[in-house]
Amino acid sequence: MKIDSLVRSNIASLAPYSTARDEYKGELGVYLDANENPYDNGYNRYPDPRQMQLKERISQVKGVAVENIFIGNGSDEPIDLIFRVFCRPSQDNVVVISPSYGMYSVAADINDIEVREVALTEEFAIDMDGIKGAINENTKAVFFCSPNNPSGNLLSREDMLEIATSYNVIVVVDEAYIDFADTQSFVTEIGKHPNIMVLQTLSKAWGMAAVRCGLAIASEQILSYMNKVKYPYNINKLTQEWVLSQLAKEEMIAQQVAQIKSERKKLEQSLETMPQVRRVYPSDANFILVKVDDADRLYNLLIENKVIVRNRSRIKGCEGCLRITVGTPEENSRLIDILSKA
Ligand SMILES: *Cc1c(COP(=O)(O)O)cnc(C)c1O
Repeated sequence: MKIDSLVRSNIASLAPYSTARDEYKGELGVYLDANENPYDNGYNRYPDPRQMQLKERISQVKGVAVENIFIGNGSDEPIDLIFRVFCRPSQDNVVVISPSYGMYSVAADINDIEVREVALTEEFAIDMDGIKGAINENTKAVFFCSPNNPSGNLLSREDMLEIATSYNVIVVVDEAYIDFADTQSFVTEIGKHPNIMVLQTLSKAWGMAAVRCGLAIASEQILSYMNKVKYPYNINKLTQEWVLSQLAKEEMIAQQVAQIKSERKKLEQSLETMPQVRRVYPSDANFILVKVDDADRLYNLLIENKVIVRNRSRIKGCEGCLRITVGTPEENSRLIDILSKA
């Protein structure tokens, strides 16, 4: 795979902004180079543009090398960077599965990149012929999401690998929900395939949605371009410190994830017994997609009772479906109470 050949020529030749501290790596010094206020309040200096301390910790938690980690302002940032690095506006295209996470198409539209949607099968599996048929010489990336939002299921590892080995495109595997699945992450493939990018996030299992911290795990080749294009100080120091402190709570998070998975199972079983429920889709995530008889009516009933779920019934492939996040045991009981009285 030739990553360099996929990069936009203006990005390949880009001279990135050189930050104030690029030339001096020592710890102590008299810093008169960045026009900062010299009086120390803990935050008067610009933060580390490469977030090395945080990356070292993430490297331990995720079991991937520091060189293969990119930290962004949510997953939104690496998603946007894929377009800005690889896709020539009004010329290139990306292939996305459908139904899936809406952000890939929004970022594509913002960057004036054609989106080629390939529907998943009725059971939400990858349609390989469809994907292969959609890829052409201007395709720069194929987006997969596994476990997929909103269907909740894992996609076939073999299928995603086949696309990565057969085509010179960036294969993005969004693993926002991987902590809730009983399967190995795709990050084990990074070393073997320079064109694979795995997206993970601290917004879901790690409980840091408000902090905005997303990860892209990929080859050094891909990340060298992403680092060139990102805002120099994309992760502020408050965020770097806060995330570092939260990553110490691995055990507590593991317990919460176990609890959520056991609640998911209970919720699935309760939903299965309800007369208005037609189908509970199997989930490897912290939400469940449910096909019901009258999605709008149930959605509104829940709203009237101050329980908010996601109405996906107008999304192609999700007709009649609600997407329900697994909450605390009390929240889930409340949901089931309301639905059983419907
Ligand atoms: C929630 C979610 C994310 C996370 O986005 P952040 O910007 O990191 O909060 C990414 N991908 C999918 C599919 C999601 O559902």
